[in-house]
Amino acid sequence: MASAQESEDMFNEFLAQRGHDVESVETSWEESYSKKQCPECGGLHDPSATVCSVCGWSP
Ligand SMILES: [Zn+2]
Repeated sequence: MASAQESEDMFNEFLAQRGHDVESVETSWEESYSKKQCPECGGLHDPSATVCSVCGWSP
């Protein structure tokens, strides 16, 4: 349901504004076979990577 997703986003935003660490699939690396996976392009990187060398995405 679109409305449910919307209220969840608002809830996450509420937590973020209060300084909590909100885990989001959109804004953090995915873990895949002990590698980091870019959520934007799906590129795999070493765990030490901070920026996606494929599309330039960073958390
Ligand atoms: Zn990428």
